[in-house]
Amino acid sequence: METRAHNFNAGPAVLPEEVLREIQADLLNYKGTGQSVMEMSHRSKEYQAIIDDAMARVKNLYELGDDYNVLFLQGGASLQFLMVPMNLCPNDKVANYINTGVWATKAYKEAKKLGKQVNIAASSEEGKFSYIPKEYKLSDNPAYLHITNNNTIYGTEYHFDPVVPAGVPLVADMSSNFMSKPIDAKKYSLIYAGAQKNVGPSGCVVVIIRKDLIEKFQPDLPTMLDYKTQIDNGSMFNTPPTFAIYIIGLVLKWIEDCGGLKQVALNNQAKAKLIYDAIDNSNGFYRGTVAKEDRSLMNITFRLASEELEEKFIKEAKALGMIGLKGHRSVGGVRASTYNACPYASCHALAEFMKKFQSEN
Ligand code: PMP
Repeated sequence: METRAHNFNAGPAVLPEEVLREIQADLLNYKGTGQSVMEMSHRSKEYQAIIDDAMARVKNLYELGDDYNVLFLQGGASLQFLMVPMNLCPNDKVANYINTGVWATKAYKEAKKLGKQVNIAASSEEGKFSYIPKEYKLSDNPAYLHITNNNTIYGTEYHFDPVVPAGVPLVADMSSNFMSKPIDAKKYSLIYAGAQKNVGPSGCVVVIIRKDLIEKFQPDLPTMLDYKTQIDNGSMFNTPPTFAIYIIGLVLKWIEDCGGLKQVALNNQAKAKLIYDAIDNSNGFYRGTVAKEDRSLMNITFRLASEELEEKFIKEAKALGMIGLKGHRSVGGVRASTYNACPYASCHALAEFMKKFQSEN
């Protein structure tokens, strides 16, 4: 390929071209420091400014004040599956989960492995995770309610925030729709998101924690797995993923320059509409796999009449520069991930190709 692809990867995923160019320009000599950010001490004042800036942008975009902490950690969202119950669920309380797919299942299984009491407050498993449960039932004595806001594999997304009783923390895995739209972040006590879909490269998970939760933290946890260690040390108890955090800061600035989350959400809606319209106007040639009201604006999933036809579709799309369209290995089909940085032009190209492919097949 001589130009950049139309990149529909599910994560790691496309980054804004402007950001890549900025990284390139500063790669050898970051702002006259004579070094790349990769080569810089995390204890230097230059690096402190970079991480402070990225933290401030997270809070600014989600309109959060000093009652929240932002952490940049390692171990991906997958380590948060463990850290959440370890820190937030004492043994005499019950960890509550809404099961909306593979990632939600992995999350509650970690709590079980720790020996915590777990309650599945709702599940869409019997419907092959094709929808978001609208109701749920909390256990007695709940430690928290955990949800997965966007289900990357199936293409379902919460378009509402579940209401929790006062005093019950709402915890959210926002890995695949983080910073994709304005949210009422104050409804959440803890949000985590692997950066590699909407806000940066892999290697860093962003965690947002409301400060009053600190009182509920379990004592005497292993140092690195204790949120308190990470909070007290400003995400620098050990060497943080310095370069990834720098890129996250640049992507968040790019979001602000695009007009902020409101504008980014409008862009994402317009992009997704092109592809969902191609599905809905295809007379069944393309079949959406999830309930319409729960359709994700980030991961658009659909099937064709046969696996052979799906393979042909993906192959021909690739020949036209459209990559990453293969559905997750656990469900098959086609999946177009249209994260923030996926351009409108790429979604337009895909929608046009879908029409052409239909008429030819
Ligand atoms: N949660 C969701 C919703 C995901 O999509 C993913 C990764 N695809 C994960 C968690 C796991 O993230 P990580 O690879 O950063 O551990």
